[in-house]
Amino acid sequence: MSLLSFDQALQQLQAGARPLEDIESVATFDALGRVLAAAQSSTIAVPPLDNSSMDGYALRCADVAASATRLAVAQRIPAGSVGHSLAPGTAARIFTGAPIPAGADAVVMQEMCAPETGEDGKPQVVINHLPKKGEWIRLTGEDIQAGAAILSAGERLSPQQLGLAASVGIAALPVYRRLRVALFSTGNELMMPGEVAPSVLPPGAIYNSNRYLLRGLLQQLGCLVSDLGIIPDNLALTRAALRAAAAEHDLILSSGGVSVGEEDHVKSAIQAEGELALWKIAIKPGKPLAFGHVRGKQGETAFIGLPGNPVSSFVTFLMLVRPFILKTQGASVSAPLALSLRADFDLPQPDARREFLRVRRNHGGGLDLFPNQSSAVLTSAAWADGLVDNPPGKAIHRGDPVNFLPFFGLLY
Ligand code: AMP
Ligand code: MG
Repeated sequence: MSLLSFDQALQQLQAGARPLEDIESVATFDALGRVLAAAQSSTIAVPPLDNSSMDGYALRCADVAASATRLAVAQRIPAGSVGHSLAPGTAARIFTGAPIPAGADAVVMQEMCAPETGEDGKPQVVINHLPKKGEWIRLTGEDIQAGAAILSAGERLSPQQLGLAASVGIAALPVYRRLRVALFSTGNELMMPGEVAPSVLPPGAIYNSNRYLLRGLLQQLGCLVSDLGIIPDNLALTRAALRAAAAEHDLILSSGGVSVGEEDHVKSAIQAEGELALWKIAIKPGKPLAFGHVRGKQGETAFIGLPGNPVSSFVTFLMLVRPFILKTQGASVSAPLALSLRADFDLPQPDARREFLRVRRNHGGGLDLFPNQSSAVLTSAAWADGLVDNPPGKAIHRGDPVNFLPFFGLLY
């Protein structure tokens, strides 16, 4: 088993990630979380016309030399309609989003205006404000200029970006097809919730939490997950399952059975069906990791074997598998967001390996440490809202700035 630093492991995984090439067009409506395959630009200006940002009155500033000026209200322009050229000495009743009529150069919000009826029975308005040119007018192209770039290739489309695409009239977007991932667990001790009630869980058995954890992590990255369940403890069956998975998937992900010296069928099955490197990575939690590929009918399918301890599985997924998946998926990959925050805890005996501590932000703007940092304690990951990325051997003293990686920069 070769010993690698975190950066070497990340670099080797990324070097082995082959981006998908299949592109499909999906309705903008259905493109949430998909990876954009080509940059998008706008063919129109947004907003397309100068328009009012308030309910009020559109007027010519030159007509309102003093406050309390009275103007005839010569037209009414609700959103969705277009007025006509504004005659000097008149105002237009206007509503938010309605185009500014030609000739008008300001809008005065209705709270500063008093509508009245003239002696002739026609509407008038008293303007109790000295307008400035451009006031309460949203300018053409203020959001997006015609021809401007709005989205880059490799972006994973957020609700805001779908809204932006819609705002320039894009009804469908080119995206990479979803990554197909086969997921399985190993371990004779594992039982599924629902299969056996907690009150009668046999001695030595535990529930398969990784299957839920990893499935959720994959789904949040937009992967199509095939759940292969718990692979039987039999070499021929394991090889057959891997061959079948390789034919239809881009990645096979497993948990458990990659510790040093373990006699397990997944390892030998993958060696028989492809190639496997076993790494011991100098990080805590989660040192063992297997990376390789299975030969299928349509070529090689990547294989990543994560450690069985749930927190090790979780951390290695976030820090190593996620960037691999992003790259394979055609998404741009950047280092996770890191914030320098104050530790409100001590770590007097740091590990010699780079450590990812489960922490949570407190109301004082600092970080609290989950008291039990064991890689088997999944409560720490459920409680935390991020990780502290602590360098090898670095003690932490209360008040020290530390490198905080929030989960919102790691989970999606
Ligand atoms: P292994 O990596 O197979 O040596 O497993 C390390 C530890 O993680 C053992 O205590 C296992 O029981 C536990 N473990 C392995 N797989 C799972 C799983 N799917 N869900 C929960 N715990 C697991
Ligand atoms: Mg095991």
